[in-house]
Amino acid sequence: MYACGPTVYDYGHIGNFRTFVAVDVLHRFLRQSGYKLHYVMNITDVDDKIIRNSARDGVSVKQYTAKYEKAFLEDAAALNIEEAQLVRATDHIPEMAEFVAKLQEKDFAYRAEDGSYYFRIAKFPSYGKLSKRDFAGMQDGARIDVDEYEKDSARDFALWKAPKPGEASWDSVIGPGRPGWHIECSVMSMEELGETFDLHAGGEDLIFPHHENEIAQSEALTGKPFAHFWFHARFLLVEGEKMSKSQGNFFTLRDLVLKGYKPSSIRFLLASIPYRHQLNFTWDGLQQAAASVERLRNFRQRLTGGQFSDGSGEIIARLAQETKDRLRAGLEDDLNTAQAQAAIFDMVRTANAAIDAGQIKKGDVPPLLAALEQFDEIFAVLKDDDAAKMKSILEWAKSEGREDISKDLIDAVAAQQLSNADVEKRIAEMEAARKSKDFRASDAIRAELTSAGIIVEITKDGIRWRRK
Ligand code: AMP
Ligand code: ZN
Repeated sequence: MYACGPTVYDYGHIGNFRTFVAVDVLHRFLRQSGYKLHYVMNITDVDDKIIRNSARDGVSVKQYTAKYEKAFLEDAAALNIEEAQLVRATDHIPEMAEFVAKLQEKDFAYRAEDGSYYFRIAKFPSYGKLSKRDFAGMQDGARIDVDEYEKDSARDFALWKAPKPGEASWDSVIGPGRPGWHIECSVMSMEELGETFDLHAGGEDLIFPHHENEIAQSEALTGKPFAHFWFHARFLLVEGEKMSKSQGNFFTLRDLVLKGYKPSSIRFLLASIPYRHQLNFTWDGLQQAAASVERLRNFRQRLTGGQFSDGSGEIIARLAQETKDRLRAGLEDDLNTAQAQAAIFDMVRTANAAIDAGQIKKGDVPPLLAALEQFDEIFAVLKDDDAAKMKSILEWAKSEGREDISKDLIDAVAAQQLSNADVEKRIAEMEAARKSKDFRASDAIRAELTSAGIIVEITKDGIRWRRK
């Protein structure tokens, strides 16, 4: 499995992470289904934008990209995206030049006067088969230099770009220059996974021209199919609009955390809409996602922390098994994450009612936890480690001099300062105060905990608490 990774020229935005979470869900589900995977992701650490920005800042390409690669890996970890085997374009430049040389031998590539190399599309009649575009009327020999171009033009695209004054370049068997974006992925995927491999993933904007061009380059060279299956996540919109800096609706993952949102809420939201559907990001949706994760965590805490009498019941065993079957069936249906989420919340609703009615026995707990576990192997939101992740983003924001750090974030991080044992001790004192009807003392402890970011709830089963 090969996924097109980030171009590390800036911090990743939530659209990027929409795609990376979708790919992570795919990867996790294949593994849960028993497949053994060799999973590779590339880091595009050389392209037009990177060359331009590093020249502008007067630093090397490596210096420029190192910062954003690190940020990408931290953000991906914050979202519990499992790491693939990473490959970097700048570590494979000689192989890319050799690949172009071989294409030239086969007449699929030609050299322009300036020393750049282009792919000869007219020699590859099945060009367009992935994006299902008909390029019959295309102009033979028309060339395109940039990595991205209009939807319906088939042009000979750059495989290798001759150096321009002041820009980074590499010496190679085909002369000095740098690889085009498309050749990077053909070379690195085939190097790690062979001439033909199973799955190739990315966002929907990559279908054309990026993946179309990867197919052309690879199949022209080997005469064999490149990837058996393609997986493309549909785009994320913000409140129904395309994200753009000028519209003020452009958000990096870090922007959302600075507003006080938890990484787990963001992951839950990004995974909630099946990958084949456009995801319309809204603040409302993010709040709901936060509440959903909370509901699941509270339910688990109820199960693990509750006192239940001995025994077990047929009904709960059946509920847990049905839920596990529905989780599988939903995800087997083209990764219908919405169905899988509905299945787990149906279980939580029914089981919560059973707990309220005193109908849950000790033996009912493990099957319910097992269903939750099966869900979380894919959705990865149950572990309550948001505060630590938010803390490191808060520290980063301070070091960058960011002015948009919210009080919610500061409170959530403050809650981290109290250990679980500290909180439990204060809660016990609060309970004792309530028993002796000293409500002043109990309220004071509650206020103190609240200001440290601990939410305290008084229920009929006793006092419950959680971190903000
Ligand atoms: P880039 O860093 O630009 O190479 O993009 C990394 C990944 O994010 C690619 O797979 C893109 O297709 C994907 N992507 C970019 N914008 C969006 C968006 N708005 N929604 C979903 N995926 C996106
Ligand atoms: Zn790629």
